[in-house]
Amino acid sequence: MKAALPKIVMATGNTGKLREITELLAGTDVAVIAQSALDVIPAEETGDTFVANALQKARNAARQTGLPAMADDSGLVVAALDGHPGIRSARYAGPQATDEENIDKLLQALRGITDRAAHFRCAAVFVRNAEDAHPLIAQGRWYGEIVQLRRGTGGFGYDPVFYDPELQRCGAELTSAEKNARSHRGQAIRALCRLMQAQWSASGGAA
Ligand code: IMP
Repeated sequence: MKAALPKIVMATGNTGKLREITELLAGTDVAVIAQSALDVIPAEETGDTFVANALQKARNAARQTGLPAMADDSGLVVAALDGHPGIRSARYAGPQATDEENIDKLLQALRGITDRAAHFRCAAVFVRNAEDAHPLIAQGRWYGEIVQLRRGTGGFGYDPVFYDPELQRCGAELTSAEKNARSHRGQAIRALCRLMQAQWSASGGAA
């Protein structure tokens, strides 16, 4: 019989991300509980990279709950803006910025610029405990371009202006299954699940 993975806390307060991650984990052996359900005080994100920030979030949730933890840190990298908004994507237009304000700022920054190439990045991590010296880390990228006007009503964040040239639609025009099949987060979470299952099997099911 296959050993079941232990209960894991998911270190995000972003409801869009949480919805996608829950869908991505459906049908796997990985069961997560949102950190908000366990009254976790969110971590400060002070790292210089997606991986560093994801690790801060996961260690913070593991420390406060005593449970293994998963986290994702992600963002939009725009070539013509020297990689911005990057790790500051959620706070691009200010500390409490809404998705709408962030998109407005992005479209303003790209006004008159013809190079619209951009990609999303996601780092997904798993720690067995707050001090875990061997965290599992997986990453994903989703390439596309930034359109001039919003399209679609699905997804979250920059999805209304992120266009996938292969599908010829913006992220917000995709079903969640279509987005998860291609997205940075889909790639990273699927790869992380494989690493977690391999670690769990190799340990014989021991925590
Ligand atoms: P984080 O919570 O610090 O990882 O910030 C992630 C931010 O990047 C989100 O708030 C969005 O602004 C943006 N982002 C990340 N992934 C996506 C996505 O799949 N679609 C649209 N925006 C995203």
